[in-house]
Amino acid sequence: MHFKDLTPYTYMARYSEYGAKNIGWLKAGEDFPKNPPDDDLLDALWETIKHPAIRTRGMHRCDQCNKKIREERYKNQTLLLGSNEIRIFHKEGDIFAAPNMIFHYVYIHHYNPPLKFREAVLYCAQNLDWYKSKSNDHIQLCEENPLNLVRIPDSVKRSWLRRGVSPLKTPPTKAEEPQ
Ligand SMILES: [Zn+2]
Repeated sequence: MHFKDLTPYTYMARYSEYGAKNIGWLKAGEDFPKNPPDDDLLDALWETIKHPAIRTRGMHRCDQCNKKIREERYKNQTLLLGSNEIRIFHKEGDIFAAPNMIFHYVYIHHYNPPLKFREAVLYCAQNLDWYKSKSNDHIQLCEENPLNLVRIPDSVKRSWLRRGVSPLKTPPTKAEEPQ
């Protein structure tokens, strides 16, 4: 699966709302920015991928290696890669959606994600409790309030009830709606 950095996240439709941007969905043969990572970035990424936001369909493989990568080892720990996504939050409001394979891309292939993502991942790792609850809240918001469904305001539902119209039945036509 390949998406350019900072394009709107659309891979898992129900989680595509609320403005998450793609980061680190690399593809074989497509150029990407490179820079040897510093330890702070690697440590921060490693901590954040321990707290995945959602499980993806199937396995996301590394397109840069010739072999299947299913796990990565870092500082005497091993984590499975390829079937989870993380959400990273910038304190200014940006939300980034990345496969957890991003750790491998940065660690092994020296992928250099955009500055704002690097700032955000450092901040999330330094504020792990904040990051975990932010991630949970974001996923809950996406699951409970999908923007792609028509939202009917409570005031409209109340006026239907007053007029004996069940909100569960076909909504009134435009002309019948209260002003
Ligand atoms: Zn690889």
